[in-house]
Amino acid sequence: MTDLIARRRQLLGPNVSTFYKDPVHIVKGEGVWLWDAGGNRYLDCYNNVPHVGHCNPRVVEAICAQARELNTHTRYLHQGILDYVERLTATFDEPLNTAIMTCTGSEANDIALRMAEAMTGKRGIVATDATYHGNTTLVSHLSKSNAPEVGYGLGGYMRHVEAPDSYRIEDPDGHRFAAKVQEAIEDLEASGIGFAALIVCPLFLNEGFPSQKDGWLQPAADVARRAGGLLICDEVQSGFARCGSHFWAHQKQGVVPDIVCMGKPMGNGHPVAGLVTKADIMERFRSSFRYFNTFGGNPVSCAAAMAVLEEIEDKDLQANALKMGRLAHERLSDLAAKYDVIGDVRQSGMVFGAEYVLDRDTKEPASDYADRIINAMRHRGIILSKLGRHKNTLKIRPPMPFGEEHLDLLMDTLDAVMAETPVRL
Ligand code: PMP
Repeated sequence: MTDLIARRRQLLGPNVSTFYKDPVHIVKGEGVWLWDAGGNRYLDCYNNVPHVGHCNPRVVEAICAQARELNTHTRYLHQGILDYVERLTATFDEPLNTAIMTCTGSEANDIALRMAEAMTGKRGIVATDATYHGNTTLVSHLSKSNAPEVGYGLGGYMRHVEAPDSYRIEDPDGHRFAAKVQEAIEDLEASGIGFAALIVCPLFLNEGFPSQKDGWLQPAADVARRAGGLLICDEVQSGFARCGSHFWAHQKQGVVPDIVCMGKPMGNGHPVAGLVTKADIMERFRSSFRYFNTFGGNPVSCAAAMAVLEEIEDKDLQANALKMGRLAHERLSDLAAKYDVIGDVRQSGMVFGAEYVLDRDTKEPASDYADRIINAMRHRGIILSKLGRHKNTLKIRPPMPFGEEHLDLLMDTLDAVMAETPVRL
């Protein structure tokens, strides 16, 4: 282990993050389980990329079968990408019926920003101040956290609005958020940059997945449209049925975006991503820019992605996410009744967590406590993490085949760990 850490430092350079004070050396995965090099088993309550389970046999077989036959790029005719895009777009509402396939979510968001520019002739983008949309030069400008210390790297044409926070900010219908978006749009217009698009994750997952009633995003979407801009939904995390009630989280929000970006779970770990948009936007983009992605949409990626869609449907994983999200909320609420340190419990299907506070009245974040809890859980064989502006909210986002027996193990262990962890040191 020490040897691997030293080699990483030497070969990959400094500041390459690992999870946990004692990093885990994982060597094998299956379903919702992971094993380390010492043969210890962990329940994976964190990873959303192995969406249909680690090393899912259907996905592995689809990748192997296609890799044995052919893998090339999209400048030759191939049925795989067409069959996939047909099946993918069938999960969307009209008029979202065309797609571009990429390898990463960052690339998909990057294209979306260029589409917004091509449609509006303007460049200004509005995003939240606690989001993450990826790592290309363009897209990294959207995330304040990408250059936290030095402050450079933030493009002058981005405006950041206060991220929603259902626990600390009163905004039951989304009007306060919409008003902030309006202000940012006016600022962009006044500066001469002009407003091109609002980009948000419909569940605000990186921001801490606030509790919101269905349709909460509509006022902000209306504001963006009235100003002549596009609505881009970044569903890199929230998509593919994770929210349980719908296949796409924007559907839960009651909006039809102009562009929907996706990635992470799309190929269950195989690097597949992309975006879906309307025909007129696609036409404008294709005639405004030359775009080719060597690996995007290759036959092996499409086979992996198709197997993921089939698996979600065959195993009814959307219904499972809905059921498990509700059960998780109940179990976390039981813990909140027992431990004052839990200030708030939130869930959106197969994403759930609890926000830790030192005092329920002042809501002072218990960030250090959250850190100690996730490290203690790791030593008890449960993989999870924390997120949010104050890094005090448990982030629990397991693979979709997560079942009741797994939830029991997670919650019983969390209960035991909380019982033995002092809130203040
Ligand atoms: N959008 C969101 C909401 C994300 O969470 C991420 C990755 N964490 C990305 C985009 C970037 O995706 P990728 O790492 O595949 O480029």
